[in-house]
Amino acid sequence: MIDTQTDFPEDVLHLRKERHELRDRAGVLLDTAADRSEPGRVARCGRRRTGPTVEVWVNPEGGAHFRGLETCGSIWTCPVCASKIATRRTAEVEALTQAHMTAGGGLYMATLTLRHKSFQSARELRWQVARAWEKAQQGGAWVRLKADLGIIGTVRALEVTHGKSGWHPHLHVLIFTGAKLSERRQDDLEAALWARWSSAVRRVDGTCDEKAFHLREASTASAGAAYVAKWGAGQEIAKGAHKDAAGQSVWDLLKASEHDARAGRLFVEFATAFKGARHLTYARGLREWYGLRDPLPDEELALEGYQHSEVIDTETGEIIAQETGRVAVFDSGTWNRVIRLKLTADILSAAIKGGTEAVEFLLSQHDCHSYFDAREMPAPNYKPPPSPHKRAFDPGGGFGSMSEVMAALKTWKENHL
Ligand SMILES: [Zn+2]
Repeated sequence: MIDTQTDFPEDVLHLRKERHELRDRAGVLLDTAADRSEPGRVARCGRRRTGPTVEVWVNPEGGAHFRGLETCGSIWTCPVCASKIATRRTAEVEALTQAHMTAGGGLYMATLTLRHKSFQSARELRWQVARAWEKAQQGGAWVRLKADLGIIGTVRALEVTHGKSGWHPHLHVLIFTGAKLSERRQDDLEAALWARWSSAVRRVDGTCDEKAFHLREASTASAGAAYVAKWGAGQEIAKGAHKDAAGQSVWDLLKASEHDARAGRLFVEFATAFKGARHLTYARGLREWYGLRDPLPDEELALEGYQHSEVIDTETGEIIAQETGRVAVFDSGTWNRVIRLKLTADILSAAIKGGTEAVEFLLSQHDCHSYFDAREMPAPNYKPPPSPHKRAFDPGGGFGSMSEVMAALKTWKENHL
């Protein structure tokens, strides 16, 4: 028996509807740009079937998702996948920041920007900002600075906005130190980081603005994780089209493209320039020190049913229950009609609010009905993808366990402080 939630927050449902609409728009914009006969990845995401039927599943936490559809896994251009990847990656990074801070390590957040010229392309700036950060972390002076301030490593996230003077790529950087820094040492870190960044930017023929440079201590592990990993999450999309100093996000451009052809062209320029760019980059020393394996790829993090289909025992990391339920099965004709009528988000909302009956009522309102009754069809033997919780606390998985990270930091302190 599925206990669906009737009080699921409306703004969450509204956000999902908006993300589905924006994904449709991105798919059309990118397809038109490429002038393809075959729809591209974003255009197929959440629309094209991978088998004969499409299913709707709900879970006890109040979520719902489709099974049997393609997923594009594009963090830069698909609002649906970007939201899932950002949420799940935040949880991944938080497993690390939590263990690091619990063990007494320090965590600092810096914003690094590059002053751009209005004629510079998104592509050129993407490479300039990434190269500058690489250069800032090279050479003997960086090694000495790390030793002096007890820096274990960094994680950087690449972000981009668009403002009056064009593209504005910037980096959000998390700095892991072996111990919390005194106020004076934190000032030292800020000054040294600015010196390294500004000289690295000059070496890649750019300029930067000290006023746009900030360094502050992360108040909590989750604040630190969100600082680098939240990009593209629902909240970002929800902020709406606004023009502040930082300019418009790419989702703002996508929204504006409905009435503004220039915004659509900018979105396509951005999509082309950022294709294949890494969302998060760990400095090598950090991953190696904490014994971290490669982070999970975007495509894997974007999969449906990835996290919500299991209840995890936080002590052991074991899956203790799989309390999901299938509420609807659509044949191909019904699914095609659902896509034409743009009902995908409404179906998930109906599934959450009222299960099978609500989905059937919605379909009947739009004059369509699936041949299949989910209550009568046997559920297939579905094997969900691995859960990030299991991965996080599995020795063979992404991050080491909390105690492993803590032990690594203790050893580091004995050797370095
Ligand atoms: Zn997608």
